[in-house]
Amino acid sequence: MHMDPPAQGSWRLSRRTFVRGTLCSLALLAVPGRSRADLTLGPGKGFLNPQPALFFRALAGKQVKCLLCPRGCEVAPGDRGACGVRENRDGHYYTLAYGNPCAVHVDPVEKKPFFHVLPGTSSFSIATAGCNMRCKFCQNWEISQARPEATSNFDLPPDKVVAGAKEQGSLSIAHTYVEPVIFYEYMLAVGQRAKKAGILNLCHSNGFINPEPLEKLTGVLDAACIDLKAFNNNFYQSLADGQLKPVLSTLKTLRARRVHLEIVNLLIPTHNDRPGEITAMCRWIHDNLGPLTPLHFSRFYPMHKMLDLNPTPVSTLEKAYDLARQAGLKYVYIGNLPGHEAENTFCHACGKVVIARQGYQTREVRLRDGNCSHCGTGIPGIWEKKA
Ligand code: SF4
Repeated sequence: MHMDPPAQGSWRLSRRTFVRGTLCSLALLAVPGRSRADLTLGPGKGFLNPQPALFFRALAGKQVKCLLCPRGCEVAPGDRGACGVRENRDGHYYTLAYGNPCAVHVDPVEKKPFFHVLPGTSSFSIATAGCNMRCKFCQNWEISQARPEATSNFDLPPDKVVAGAKEQGSLSIAHTYVEPVIFYEYMLAVGQRAKKAGILNLCHSNGFINPEPLEKLTGVLDAACIDLKAFNNNFYQSLADGQLKPVLSTLKTLRARRVHLEIVNLLIPTHNDRPGEITAMCRWIHDNLGPLTPLHFSRFYPMHKMLDLNPTPVSTLEKAYDLARQAGLKYVYIGNLPGHEAENTFCHACGKVVIARQGYQTREVRLRDGNCSHCGTGIPGIWEKKA
């Protein structure tokens, strides 16, 4: 995951702040077997809350095959899968990433980035430790490449996540910062409760998930922002330890299931910024997902294991923008470059600005019931909070 660093430019909730701010509502919650003292203190470093995992198959000798993501790890008793959070305990398979997020923040929804979802609102954002890819350019590598016993974790079961979102006035909950697929069971449980509470359920994901768990997830997911890291499999293999094909399949499923979809492409100099590759990617998006699919080109900054490169030149981002427009995409953005004109949303019919932004801040919304206030054309997105 490259976007959306948890601690920059947002109101970061420290453990103490969050606990103090939510004490009243948390104390009102009925949590069987837990005392008020448990709730206020929280567990801290290395807190685990193992829960039975979903999507696996038993193999001979008490081994299990994980069926959650395309890595398909075969996990021996006492071992974990590659994401570091799913463990075989004597033939029983557990997730160690449930109810124990190490990052809890209230962010502008634009930071996810969602530009077509409730602009100007906040999103209650959570992540546990772990990831199923190994991106050399990860912005959140300190938590994505860590195991949950190495991070400082909240005790935040799904009900408390929803209570926290309500108390903070967030209209959505975002599963983000690391790859949320690895805390699938937690995301699903939060999503089920958020749905009942009328709160949108969002995720920012690498899209590296198997079809069956994805289908189940779409039942509670309102919007997904998917990293399409490159349009060549060599990039995925060499820089992310992943694969392109399953990500494309995820994008098509999300579109077919009518989950609102936005795409992020981080442009890394010399690695995925060739004009031919960008054009091919944009044509694929146009043909398979539709011309109204929002696409964010994001500026790379040296990070993690890729400190030897310069930030993406502005000219490269603007060239990519032009290529996407030429390929027929209507909602193209340039991100990680505050103040650029391509942060704004232009109506695809009349070309006038319908949402004006500066960085993660929405400055003005010129929509009426989801329609352009200039020409009346419907703009794709989620513009009203849930009933
Ligand atoms: S979710 Fe984790 S354990 Fe399961 S296949 Fe993916 S990397 Fe392996």
